[in-house]
Amino acid sequence: MKRFFCTCGQEIFLNNLYCDKCGRDLIFDPESQTMWGGILKDEGFEAHPIDKALDKIPMRICSQRHSQVLCNWAVTEEDQDQCICCSSTRTIPDQSAEKNRKRWRSLEMAKRQLFTTLLNLHLPIENYHQKTNGLAFDFLEDKRSNPAVENRTCSFRPLRRNHYLKRHGSR
Ligand SMILES: [Zn+2]
Ligand SMILES: [Zn+2]
Repeated sequence: MKRFFCTCGQEIFLNNLYCDKCGRDLIFDPESQTMWGGILKDEGFEAHPIDKALDKIPMRICSQRHSQVLCNWAVTEEDQDQCICCSSTRTIPDQSAEKNRKRWRSLEMAKRQLFTTLLNLHLPIENYHQKTNGLAFDFLEDKRSNPAVENRTCSFRPLRRNHYLKRHGSR
């Protein structure tokens, strides 16, 4: 497994939003497959590479950074506001339930680990926004945790309604 270190020398981990030692904000850049330390600025991020010659690198933060999933990835697609990992999620369970918010966060953390492996292996990651039948994750709830859920339930909240309806048919 690839190890990452903050500019201050502290070891940092894939899902860290900031460095425990120096407090720098952290971002994971899927293009360079590197964690960068820096400063959050509104929707942007100013990365401060260890190599001072590179000075500051502006990056865009994933819009899910401030949501339940606490995503620390950079956005690499120009027309997206979510990173390549978050934007592959098509359906999430009802977020009005606390347990579902925790589950979604855990799933996305695990998915980011998976995506770093895919990137590392140079496997293509094309999600359903980018191509028909592209990679899509539907995090569904079933009767074991929510007896109110029915088959083809209405309680799943699709992130993008159109895709949900295309797949499941209109109600
Ligand atoms: Zn640090
Ligand atoms: Zn993200």
